[in-house]
This record gives sequence, structure tokens and C-alpha cells, in this order.
Amino acid sequence: MKSDCIFCSIIAGDIPGQIVAETEDILVIKDIAPKAKIHYLIVPKQHYKDLQELEDCCLGSRMFRMAQKLSADNPEAKDYRLMVNNGYGAGQRVFHLHMHFLAGSELPEF
Ligand code: AMP
Ligand code: ZN
Repeated sequence: MKSDCIFCSIIAGDIPGQIVAETEDILVIKDIAPKAKIHYLIVPKQHYKDLQELEDCCLGSRMFRMAQKLSADNPEAKDYRLMVNNGYGAGQRVFHLHMHFLAGSELPEF
């Protein structure tokens, strides 16, 4: 837990978040400023500032498994896009590792 981290604060329950799913080590919340009809953030409960810090390969796998489950549970999210911004230059603004899950509308080609 990092005291000045917004996602750590949501995980701790200190500030509200719209929780979509939860496991022992992952929280899924709705993005506060959605860029698609469905825009979730798959967030490890442990604080890693970015993907480069992640050494636990199993946690990475479980984040992908969570994406599969979010899709399987919602016909609107059959097709989806996963995205991780690593570092400020790549667009990262919240420095607690998270994976964007985007679905539910035709996404622009990337
Ligand atoms: P990134 O630019 O990859 O770091 O993504 C950060 C994302 O977190 C953005 O899409 C923001 O809209 C989202 N965000 C920021 N604050 C919150 C919050 N309190 N609850 C949910 N999503 C948030
Ligand atoms: Zn954090």
C-alpha cells in the first residue's frame, strides 16, 4: 500500500471505486472516464508502479485470466481490447500497474 496512490486507496476502501470483480490479488473497477462503452481497469492489489516492476509472472497470467472471465461473463464484452501504458511517455498517468479492458462498442483500429 502506497499512501499517495489512488488505486491503493480504492483497494483499501478509503475512497470509493465502482467494483466489478475481485479476487484475492486483483480488483477490477470501472474507469472513471470511460473511453469505450465498457472500460474496466484490472488492478493488482499489490502496488507495482508499472509493468516493468512486475516480476510475478503468475500475477500477470491471472490478470489475463481475469480479462477472459470478464468477457465470458458479458456477451457485450465478447470482443475486447487490453492495454497497458508503461511510463509517462506512453500515456501512463496513474502509477499503479493496471490493465485497461475496453469493449462494448466498435473500437477504433489501432
Ligand atoms: P493510465 O493513463 O494508463 O495510467 O490510466 C489511468 C486510468 O485511470 C485513466 O483511464 C483514468 O480515467 C482512470 N482513473 C483515474 N482515477 C480513477 C479513479 N478514482 N477511479 C477509476 N478510474 C480512475
Ligand atoms: Zn498503489
